[in-house]
Amino acid sequence: MSTDYSRGLRLAAAAVGADAVTLRETLSATNVHLTADPDIPGVLAALSVMVADLRRLPYQLTLDPTGGTAPIPDTVLTDLQTLVSGIDPDRPLRITAAPALCLHVHLGVQPPSGAAFSGAPDGHGVRLRHRGHAFPSLNAPGSGLGTVLTAATVTAEVFKRTTGLRPGTYGTAPTLDFCPVTLATEPGMMTDTLSEIRSTALVGAGAIGTGITLILGLMGTTGELTVVEPESFEPPNVTTYSIGTRHDADERVHKTQLVRRYLPRMDVTPIPHSAQDFIDAVDNGTAPWPRTVLGAVHSVEARHEIQRIHADLTLDGSTGGSAGTTLALHEAVPQGPCIRCYYPQPTVPVGPSAEQLLHEATGLPLQRIARGDELITDADLDGLSARHRAALLPHVGKPVCGVSNLMGLTTTDADDFQPSASFVAQQAACLVVGAMIARRTGHAAGPMRHVEYDARVGPWYDMTTPRRPRPTCTCQTDADLIARVRAHRRREPESPPSTPHGQVPAA
Ligand SMILES: [Zn+2]
Repeated sequence: MSTDYSRGLRLAAAAVGADAVTLRETLSATNVHLTADPDIPGVLAALSVMVADLRRLPYQLTLDPTGGTAPIPDTVLTDLQTLVSGIDPDRPLRITAAPALCLHVHLGVQPPSGAAFSGAPDGHGVRLRHRGHAFPSLNAPGSGLGTVLTAATVTAEVFKRTTGLRPGTYGTAPTLDFCPVTLATEPGMMTDTLSEIRSTALVGAGAIGTGITLILGLMGTTGELTVVEPESFEPPNVTTYSIGTRHDADERVHKTQLVRRYLPRMDVTPIPHSAQDFIDAVDNGTAPWPRTVLGAVHSVEARHEIQRIHADLTLDGSTGGSAGTTLALHEAVPQGPCIRCYYPQPTVPVGPSAEQLLHEATGLPLQRIARGDELITDADLDGLSARHRAALLPHVGKPVCGVSNLMGLTTTDADDFQPSASFVAQQAACLVVGAMIARRTGHAAGPMRHVEYDARVGPWYDMTTPRRPRPTCTCQTDADLIARVRAHRRREPESPPSTPHGQVPAA
């Protein structure tokens, strides 16, 4: 069985406006050539993340270990080869000088003359320079957050230059400087980090959740993390998630165990169930109530579940938009704005949702369709009418969420599932972890923020919007009830004093 590139290609095809087959041929014929300056702190870690991100698309990959300011050690090359073969054993990373026709990409601040562009981590952030634009002095050694953001940003740049995006649909700035903690353009100035976290839950170990895991691992964060995720790792996840191999997919390793394995320095508590099951366990006293929730789910319903945890602070990451390249952070507090303020249930019908259309076309129950990442099995056909069985039979073995697209069902529902690429999900994960650092260190203490940009364009000056609660949201109309629930989960007898709007209680 060969590696399944379909999800990443579907994203790319939507972004470009091409068909996935043509795009696959284009990318398969494109050689991306890599060099790096291994003496810059964080560059080798960024190289590892970037090689994996690029391997999750069907490029030809080459690397010249002597192309930078110092040779890349043989042990690093061996690790890179292992990483690549874990994703696709049929497409190795070739060690060679630059081929005649290639897109040459560098990591470090002294790119060779052939490099089209180069990126380097600076503290928690990234600096990117196209040919002819010199790097300034770096402010700080690259952190785990900076290395992942650098890899994801440079991979996005490769994506933009190789997929044939239409002019006007992507950013062309020759330089980029960005810190996901300060959300400003001067990275490396704020270097406080998360050496230890406690009372924190990651809900969702999918594309964004594994991106968050990657960052926490590379930052060397210690402490405790509860991971809530009901599903196992499947073959299509290999090319869209930030961790996990073909072997893990063949073994159907549970996603919570994947996270635990990647974070050996942390005490990870796997909750292999839904967020609602987790809430029940919290209320029963069999699971700890997290004061910070990192949300990494992909439906409105799942986001509403996450809000019902009523944590002190919820940081929700998302990817989506018409091309799947839009990424966002939503900061939420129980006093409002909560996650429901960002994602209200539509009160005016906007036409049938993707789930309703799929339900009508196949007879699959809506509760089953909600488990979008689970593959359709023969058991799902039981009890369906002959017409519905015939419609669903060709899709056995595929995830439910992709079937709407495959069946050509169209919808006006903005919540339709979009496939994502690891480099897009990683940028969303960087915003989530950046916000966690900003809130825990007191760098950000003001109103909750909504941050959103398109990976084809990159972060820009007006991507941040302060948010206020919606007056009709349950966080406002049911404020007393929510305060009582929170007191119960704190195991306190009486309601706490209400927290001033926009303030996050100390964890
Ligand atoms: Zn609300």
